[in-house]
Amino acid sequence: MIVTPLHAQHSRRFEENRFVYPVLSRRSEGISVGVYLNPDKVCNFDCIYCQVDRTTQSETRFVELAQLLEELEITLRLTASGELFEHPHFKDTPQHFRRLNDIAFSGDGEPTTYRNFDEIIAACADLKRRVGLSDVKMVLITNASMFHRLPVERGLAILDQNNGEIWAKLEAGTEEYFKLVDRTPIPFRQILDNITLAAKVRPLVIQALFMRVNGQPPGEAELVAFCDRLNEIVAAGGKLKLIQVYTVARRPAESFVAPLSDAEVDSIVALVEQRTGLAAKAYYGTAP
Ligand code: SF4
Repeated sequence: MIVTPLHAQHSRRFEENRFVYPVLSRRSEGISVGVYLNPDKVCNFDCIYCQVDRTTQSETRFVELAQLLEELEITLRLTASGELFEHPHFKDTPQHFRRLNDIAFSGDGEPTTYRNFDEIIAACADLKRRVGLSDVKMVLITNASMFHRLPVERGLAILDQNNGEIWAKLEAGTEEYFKLVDRTPIPFRQILDNITLAAKVRPLVIQALFMRVNGQPPGEAELVAFCDRLNEIVAAGGKLKLIQVYTVARRPAESFVAPLSDAEVDSIVALVEQRTGLAAKAYYGTAP
């Protein structure tokens, strides 16, 4: 009997995946394999700039671990072997982008709300090792709201051991602005404490998205307060390796949200560098 390898059986099928999607990331100049842990699109934040379409219900409500791992294996093998670039979606990928950059845990909600977060991270890390891709980065994109929960703390530790990186969202300096932008009942203090806790164990990347709200960019006082919060995290022993300053790049949930200009993003980067001494990088937007 001839056994067809798993990736060959499914070589044209990744577009039918439910939990794992390859994405060409111009920013990282490679393929990012996204693992979606919130197929029900539920999030404990309701950010005014969120791009998730929650007006429609998804067909898939729960993560099926066996299927997720099968999809991840197929997608990793397809990408690593280069077969992915024979597919019509990826055939125009420039030569120097034809590399697997990372596995990213993100999705249509907050990935750390997944109940068995540590188990799923461990299973994906095992798989990564098994297919000979130990060097590939695992990136957790998170709002930091659950770091104080034990399964999440354990999951972060597993990421640390498996070339992991944590990108935590922080985009306010005051409780008031935090509530305006992130629209969650979770207190701002909890988010700050969680980021500090995690940053004491390993260096974090901070993702800060600033925008116009009803035509208004964030005020100087808010941005100074944001820098103060970063300084407090560092003063408490937290390590922050990069502050990524973003603005809106795709159509947001709310029509009163609009991107900052490139110059406005640049001036926030300059302010962060000047007031905190931390490394900061600009990511520009496009008109929604
Ligand atoms: S945390 Fe992320 S997924 Fe949740 S509402 Fe905000 S932007 Fe959307």
